[in-house]
Amino acid sequence: MILVVVSGLTLVGIALWRVATTPTSQTVTPEIMGTTTHLTAVGRRADLGPALDAAQAALRSVNRTMSTYDPSSELSRINAGQSPDDIAPELGAVLEFGLHMSSRTDGAFDATVYPLVQLWAKAAAAGRPPDDAELADARSHVGWRKVSLTMDPLNPQPATQPGGRRWVLRMPVGTQITLDAIAKGDAVDLAVAAMRTGRHLAGGMVEVGGDLRCFGRPADGGFWRVGVQSPWEEGRVLMRLRPLTDSGELCVCTSGNYRRYYEIAGKRYSHIIDPATGEPADAVPSVTVIAPSCMKADGWATALSVLGVEKGLKLVEQESGVEAMFVTGTKDNPEYHYSSGFKKYVIEE
Ligand code: AMP
Ligand code: MG
Repeated sequence: MILVVVSGLTLVGIALWRVATTPTSQTVTPEIMGTTTHLTAVGRRADLGPALDAAQAALRSVNRTMSTYDPSSELSRINAGQSPDDIAPELGAVLEFGLHMSSRTDGAFDATVYPLVQLWAKAAAAGRPPDDAELADARSHVGWRKVSLTMDPLNPQPATQPGGRRWVLRMPVGTQITLDAIAKGDAVDLAVAAMRTGRHLAGGMVEVGGDLRCFGRPADGGFWRVGVQSPWEEGRVLMRLRPLTDSGELCVCTSGNYRRYYEIAGKRYSHIIDPATGEPADAVPSVTVIAPSCMKADGWATALSVLGVEKGLKLVEQESGVEAMFVTGTKDNPEYHYSSGFKKYVIEE
């Protein structure tokens, strides 16, 4: 009798312990950075709300610093010619990565394309493509080599400490910067870091407008599956990707001309500009990149949209940890082009 009661209590105890320790998940989908987001945290129930709050705060903070849509962001103030030096450490780090991307891609990635971005947006609003004079004027302000970003050489303190070394930014009047091609990726990286800081989550995932980073495991204890969407059909998944390591870490970004584009006289133009021509880069319907960080994946996805399949794959093969998959062709006849290590992430279904 006593034995039965004791073992009964033990069973109840185990059941309660299971309920308390089995990871559950919580998801929020706020609209941030002008796009849809998905944030999921997996772990002990008490940790989930605070983890998701921290992640959202990180996304909003990046937006406040780097948004080109918010005239009061630090980047907008720089573009308006105010305080061109002594910039925030986080902005300096992202811009430094943007300049690194430019040198790696021979200028296919170029944060100074902003005058061209604005010109094409204006043209779309007016319903006609820009004329040669307008294009030439905008192009005269574009070129990543016009930007000088250095660390204040006289201050020995690291940039992360108050009063520490600062980034010094110099650029000519008329040069303007957009970090839209990498800021989302950076925001996702920082949101995942914020989610994890000070907590032991079983897993998590942050997705902002096509840029995704996950870690650990989903609530069912399996592994994260990341769908790659068709550039022609909203919601149609072409293939699914999975993390390769026990850490469950995976960073995936897709760039393409299907989500955001300009429409001028019934023709669609990509929001990605080829800095070499000043024209929208429309050759690649979509390119998906896997990289060690979401900012890196984001940068390469944009650059590869400009470079195209042949040049792009050649460069990616030289970049350690970066894999890419281009989708070209048509809806009824899609063609896939893979870098040498991409397919190992694809789930055979
Ligand atoms: P994404 O969606 O990450 O490919 O980023 C596209 C955004 O980056 C555009 O909306 C522009 O603001 C900006 N952009 C366009 N072309 C380029 C380029 N060649 N290099 C860097 N940024 C670009
Ligand atoms: Mg990008």
